[in-house]
Amino acid sequence: MKRIAILGSTGSIGTQALDVIRANPGHFELEVITAHSNAALLIQQALEFRPNTVVIAREDLYEQVQDALQHQDIKVYAGTNALCAVVEMGTVDMVLTAMVGYAGLQPTIRAIKAGKQIALANKETLVVAGQLVTGLAKEYGVNIYPVDSEHSAIFQCLAGEFHNPIEKIILTASGGPFRGYTTEQLAQVTKTQALKHPNWEMGAKITIDSASLMNKGLEVIEAKWLFGLRNNQIEVVVHPQSIIHSLVQFEDGSLKAQLGLPDMKLPIQYAMGYPERLKSDFPRFNFMDYPQLTFEQPDLKTFRNLELAFSAMEKGGNMPCILNAANEVAVSAFLREEVGFLQMSDIIESCLAKVAYIANPSYDSYVETDKETRVQATELIRKGAKTSTK
Ligand code: NDP
Ligand code: MG
Repeated sequence: MKRIAILGSTGSIGTQALDVIRANPGHFELEVITAHSNAALLIQQALEFRPNTVVIAREDLYEQVQDALQHQDIKVYAGTNALCAVVEMGTVDMVLTAMVGYAGLQPTIRAIKAGKQIALANKETLVVAGQLVTGLAKEYGVNIYPVDSEHSAIFQCLAGEFHNPIEKIILTASGGPFRGYTTEQLAQVTKTQALKHPNWEMGAKITIDSASLMNKGLEVIEAKWLFGLRNNQIEVVVHPQSIIHSLVQFEDGSLKAQLGLPDMKLPIQYAMGYPERLKSDFPRFNFMDYPQLTFEQPDLKTFRNLELAFSAMEKGGNMPCILNAANEVAVSAFLREEVGFLQMSDIIESCLAKVAYIANPSYDSYVETDKETRVQATELIRKGAKTSTK
């Protein structure tokens, strides 16, 4: 029995992880669940799974959760500090980081320092502080199992290849709902259109990131740290059907790929169950349903976020942290309909140019960079970032 803590149990990844646990009662025990503001779902999950502890990040919701669970043998806490403390509990073996954004960094670090295995969905953690986090994982003897489907694919391709160096990896991208759009067309897209991903049902932030190709940019940086790659070993190819989840090329030229229908439950289950492949009843892939698998070059000129991510990775230091913070602010503003789709790239580009570069950031400098970037990005939005025609 693996004892699991899920940070962000009320989200898209969190609820699918609970589906996996529900389907495999003999393999997993749920110890901790956490949410930010969805108290009603958190309570419902607690009543069904009866974890040891639940945490609601918003302290003003503590009473609601506590009242609902007062007659249960379940501990209830609130606030960010509690969220960081529960990952250290002795009864937890593995922490699934399924919360969204920069907020995942601190609890992930605390979990690693407490020697917990990590199933990592929260890619922002590796984008912001990949060097620090992977360094700590090594120091504390902790494995980081990827949940992101592309990275899970690569991880699965690497099974049994421990001594064989990677020549390069190829991350596949669906291209999102606006694949093939021109800049002029992108200038007109709405939030509702951007929230309709062709292949995946996901949380709002990652859905917008997928539409702007920032998600692929974040994944490139995530892959660099997860698999210890040089920048020039990572390529992206657009594959609209999302059947090939990514590929590894070895030094003899052989390519290995992992295929399947787009369903996040598989990579979630693989990360939680590793090294076992647990039996599942997920729908099976049939070649005859997909007689054509197609591939395209990503359009970096129109989808500038991917280019910005590559360039932040090249520059290194705190640049990916700036990229991430500016993107988080820009995406929230887009979701509030305060900026247009293309202005998101303008805001990110501007922050990358303005916020001070730090070559070898410490944890504190990441915190400072994140804060400073959010101030800059918010200010740009307040002033009304210019409408991009680039
Ligand atoms: P969702 O928005 O669906 O869920 C986010 C979860 O995190 C919710 O439980 C939310 O709580 C909680 N949360 C949000 N903000 C905070 C905060 N500040 N403090 C504590 N908890 C917080 O996101 P997804 O499940 O889509 O994504 C989660 C992570 O997984 C992201 O990093 C994403 O990039 C990654 N990922 C997601 C994939 C997917 O298919 N969804 C695929 C690959 C990676 P509440 O519900 O109460 O707001
Ligand atoms: Mg992905």
